[in-house]
Amino acid sequence: LTIGIPKEIMKGEKRVSATPETVEKMVENGAVVLVEKGAGLNSLMEDVDYEKAGAKIYDDVQEIFNQADIILKVKEPIFNSNLGKHEVDMLRNGQILITFLHPAAPKNHEMIKSLAKSGATSLTLDGIPRISRAQNMDALTSMSTVAGYKSVLLAANKLSKFVPMTGTAVGMIQPAKVVVIGTGVAGLQALSTAKRLGAVVTAIDIRPEALEHAKSLGGKVFDTGVPAEVAIGEGGYAKSLPQEWIIKEREAIRDLIVDADIVIATALVPGKLAPILITEEMVKAMRPGSVIMDVSIDQGGNCELSESGVIAEHHGVTVDGTNNIPGMVASSSTWMFSKNIYNLVAAFVKDGQFIVDREDEIIASTLVTMDGELLHSGAREAMG
Ligand code: NAD
Repeated sequence: LTIGIPKEIMKGEKRVSATPETVEKMVENGAVVLVEKGAGLNSLMEDVDYEKAGAKIYDDVQEIFNQADIILKVKEPIFNSNLGKHEVDMLRNGQILITFLHPAAPKNHEMIKSLAKSGATSLTLDGIPRISRAQNMDALTSMSTVAGYKSVLLAANKLSKFVPMTGTAVGMIQPAKVVVIGTGVAGLQALSTAKRLGAVVTAIDIRPEALEHAKSLGGKVFDTGVPAEVAIGEGGYAKSLPQEWIIKEREAIRDLIVDADIVIATALVPGKLAPILITEEMVKAMRPGSVIMDVSIDQGGNCELSESGVIAEHHGVTVDGTNNIPGMVASSSTWMFSKNIYNLVAAFVKDGQFIVDREDEIIASTLVTMDGELLHSGAREAMG
C-alpha cells in the first residue's frame, strides 16, 4: 500500500495530513509513505524527521499522485497554480482521496462534480459519524475544538474594547457580551474560551442537551422556542429546520444578537448547509465595532452577509468568514488531524488494501464519490 502526503497548497493552510509520528506507524504497518518535500514545514516538522520515520521525500508532487494508492490531504483539492493544474486532475480512476471535502458547500460543487468524473474514490472527513467507534477518527471534532478556541481570540483582537470587566481609576469597564450560536463542539470551546477571557457569554442552541453543556461551562442559555420534536432528529442530532421555524428562531434571537459585541456562529446540521440565522437587518442594528465570526462558513455560513474567506465590514460590523481557522494553530491542529486520519486508514486497511465497505457506517457517511458517481446525499441535495 502506498500512501501519499502532499503539501497543502491552499492559501494560509499550514497543516499537513501526517506527522513523523504517524508516518512511522504507517511504515510499521507495512505501507510505503511518500511525503512531498517541505510538506510539514509550516507545522514545524522537517523533512529529515519524516525520513527518519521511514518516509520517502519527493520533490515532484505529481509523482506522489502517480504512485500512491491513497492520497491523504487536509483540505479539498484546488487549482495548483505552480503546476498549472487542478489537484482533481492529478487523481486517477480508483485512487482513494481522504480529506475534508465539505461537499455540500456551494463553492465546492464544481470541484465535487469533477471529482466524481475522475473516477476517484473520495471520502470526506466532515462525514465521520459521531459514534464511539469513530471518535478517534473524528477530525471535524478536533478541528472544531481549535476553531472554537481561535475564533474567540480573533474576534477579541478585532474588538476595540476590553473583553473582561476591568476596574480602572476612572471607573469600571463592563465586560464584552459574547453570543455563541450553536453550542456543539466548536461552540462549547468558544464559550469556555470567552468565559476565560472574562466575557458575559450567552448560548443559543435548539438542542436542550447542548444548552445543558453550555450551562455547565458557565454560559447563560437562551431558549429559541423551537420545540424538541422539530429540533431533534435521529441520534440526538439537530434537524435541519423548516424555513418557517428558521424565521421564528431569527425573531427570537434578534435582540440578543443586536446587543452582542461578539457573535460566534457555529450552528450546523451535519452534512447540510448552515442555517441563515443572522440577517442583514440584524447586522445593521448591531453596534458599530461588533464582530461576527461565521465559523460555519464552510457550509455557507450562519450570517446572510458572510463570504467564504472574506473579512469585511458591513454597517460598521466586522463579518469574518475566515475558512481555515485551525490552519492558524498549525501545530496543535496537525497533531490531532494526523492521528485522526491515521486511525481512519488503519481501521479500513486489510492485507495492504483499503476496503471501501459501503455497509460500514463510517464509510457510508464519509463516501462522496466512487466509480464516477456522486454518492454524498448532502451534496446531491445542495446541488438540487
Ligand atoms: P456540532 O454539530 O458539534 O455543533 C453544531 C451545533 O449547532 C449543534 O449543537 C446543533 O444543535 C446546533 N444547531 C443546529 N441548527 C441550529 C439552529 N437552527 N439554531 C441553533 N443551533 C443550531 O458542529 P461543530 O463541530 O461544533 O462545528 C460547527 C461549525 O464549525 C461547522 O460548520 C464546522 O464546519 C465549523 N468549523 C469551521 C472551521 C473554520 O475554520 N471556519 C473549523 C472547524 C469547524
